[in-house]
Amino acid sequence: MRLAGVVGHERIRTILSRALERDRLPPALLLSGPDGVGKKTLALAAAQAALCEAAPAPEPCGECPTCRRVAAALDPAHLQEQREEADRHPGDDEWRNFRLHPDLVLVEGWRLTRTGRPRPEPEIRVGQVRNLVAEVAGAPFEARRRVFVVDDAHGMNESSQNALLKSLEEPPPRSHLILVTARPQGLRQTIRSRCQVLRFGPLGRSAVAAFLTEQQGVAEEEARLRAGLAAGSLGAALAFESEGYKTLREGLLSLLEGVGDLDALARMEQAEVLEQAEDPAFLLTTLRSLLRDLAALRAGASPGGLLNADVAERLQPLAAGSLGARAGVLAENVAGTRSALRGFANKLLTFDLLVDDLSSK
Ligand SMILES: [Zn+2]
Repeated sequence: MRLAGVVGHERIRTILSRALERDRLPPALLLSGPDGVGKKTLALAAAQAALCEAAPAPEPCGECPTCRRVAAALDPAHLQEQREEADRHPGDDEWRNFRLHPDLVLVEGWRLTRTGRPRPEPEIRVGQVRNLVAEVAGAPFEARRRVFVVDDAHGMNESSQNALLKSLEEPPPRSHLILVTARPQGLRQTIRSRCQVLRFGPLGRSAVAAFLTEQQGVAEEEARLRAGLAAGSLGAALAFESEGYKTLREGLLSLLEGVGDLDALARMEQAEVLEQAEDPAFLLTTLRSLLRDLAALRAGASPGGLLNADVAERLQPLAAGSLGARAGVLAENVAGTRSALRGFANKLLTFDLLVDDLSSK
């Protein structure tokens, strides 16, 4: 895994490469930024470079025994096995500290509770952090350095964060901590202030699309569609399942085309259909992308630049009609609906209001 192989974030990659080349990787780094943009990938590439037998160098060599060992440990199937093994031992906190090499540990949050129920947010338990703190204090076993990568660092609760502070206050000379988080506000100020912070922005649409076509062999039109919907997250663009999406979008397009003619009863039925959607948040994201395209067309945008450029011919008559005139406001309302559903709003009532909103003239 090379730092140069990570999509985007040129500035951050350069800073890290220079630090590695000068053998000056900071003792504590905090990589913060949206999910799915490559923070953890870059953290692990930097860790591998610090351990590599050719270090100090700006990149891991990829060929020495250490590099090979780390690469094998990071094989997705192998990691998945370890996660499943950890889930079979929910009482032993440190099972989610994965040792990728004697001197490289990846700490991940628990996605299940001790009783096996899925957690809304990953949890990094205090036992994991105590184990980590003890390790950080030790000298390297084999490599020149020891690196500890903590993914979803915001998953540390109060006592976990307190336990970690000790390592940050007296960083041992050859150990490095790299915290990775999409929610830095979930970390105490005392932790953030002891780390060198690198802030990742979302990836540009064209960078995501280029990666999909060049590295994944995705067709150009499809890559553009996925990149537009993924809002700067390569992870989301990769996970995107396009057949399901197209079916969903087809349903919403038909709704937009016919919604002006629906009577009160038909509107209620339509709301019930929406309420049954498997992933209401994704449905609303899709609806919003269609409405934003209508607003853009109404404002004179060229069809080629739309998120849903492949259905521009169906969007154009809608944009010219009464829906087009309100599309900008409606798109914002849909964003509001999405956050309401994350709270305690009644789902059916929320969709009732949404369909009424779409059909009013
Ligand atoms: Zn190497």
